[in-house]
Amino acid sequence: MRILITGAAGFLGSHLCDRLIKEGHTVIGMDNFITGNPMNLAQLTGSDRFSFIKHDVSEYIFVPGKLDAVLHFASPASPNPASPFSYPNLPIQTMKAGALGTHNTLGVAKANDARFLLASTSEIYGDPLEHPQKETYWGHADPIGFRSVYDEAKRFAEALTMAYHRFHDLDTRIVRIFNTYGPRMRLDDGRVVPNFLQQALLGKPITIYGDGSQTRSFCYVDDLIEGIYRLLLSDEHMPVNIGNPAEIAISQFAEVINKMVGNKAGVVYEPDKRLGDDPQRRQPDITRAKSILGWEPVTDLETGLERTIQYFRTQLSQ
Ligand code: NAD
Ligand code: UDP
Repeated sequence: MRILITGAAGFLGSHLCDRLIKEGHTVIGMDNFITGNPMNLAQLTGSDRFSFIKHDVSEYIFVPGKLDAVLHFASPASPNPASPFSYPNLPIQTMKAGALGTHNTLGVAKANDARFLLASTSEIYGDPLEHPQKETYWGHADPIGFRSVYDEAKRFAEALTMAYHRFHDLDTRIVRIFNTYGPRMRLDDGRVVPNFLQQALLGKPITIYGDGSQTRSFCYVDDLIEGIYRLLLSDEHMPVNIGNPAEIAISQFAEVINKMVGNKAGVVYEPDKRLGDDPQRRQPDITRAKSILGWEPVTDLETGLERTIQYFRTQLSQ
């Protein structure tokens, strides 16, 4: 296939480019580097099946030649206002990437009669009242809350994708991605994995927002990419959760990291830094992914963190 990937210079987009090139496809990456890094694509510069277009997806998109698939991954993704690369600090860009960017990428897919895959998120479930979250759950999201620029843009993106599917018969897919971690996450994007690993590796106390009782379920990037690739090749049009169901409290996650890194500085609680609409519990129900895609994660937390620690050690030593 000849595939356009937006958000290609980001954490997930770059891993997806690697995988698609490895599978023999031709890939055109697109990114405006607002939160991404060209270095994430350095390994692909020698490939004659990879090319790159620097472009903002909220502007009209033109890609020469026929495309077989369009994968829309462009969007800021960190909720942490302490980072300049987070969506609360890029609110308009986030809404434009999710709304206008989805409209433009759907338009490109329609013009090419190509399949389309939307990177959606567990955030569409908001602060969920159902646990674990199944795809049938409609969510509990505040339309004007702190996270709303991201949540509502992604909810709009899902609705628009289904509209193109139902009205234009476009061959669409929607992946609802749960917290994913691994090499190439920005050290300074403020998400919990880079924050905790960086603090631990520098021998500083880990900052726990709130009382640390909130939970997340962390998926290693290679597992996620496998699930997304299977979804792309499937005929499934309804949303599919992809994530690791192993749920852990943030306070316990901090302990695991301090132990693995050998950090003696412990933790520090910062109750005021936990935002009002920070979900209390998050865990994917992956029954659909298992039955439709034959997929489930295979990397345990320690193995995934070990690989991620290696990456962060190298980054910090540069
Ligand atoms: P990231 O910030 O590393 O990557 C996003 C990329 O999109 C960056 O390279 C950025 O420069 C690019 N981008 C943003 N706005 C753009 C625009 N207007 N035009 C062109 N490029 C633009 O984040 P990520 O973690 O790789 O997330 C990728 C996608 O996956 C996002 O859509 C995000 O919502 C979704 N997602 C990620 C996770 C996760 O845990 N990593 C969870 C749920 C959903
Ligand atoms: N968090 C934390 N300390 C940090 C960064 C994040 O306790 O230094 C918490 C955050 O409040 C949230 C969880 O870790 O409850 C996961 O945060 P992340 O930014 O990774 O993304 P989210 O899953 O909330 O979208």
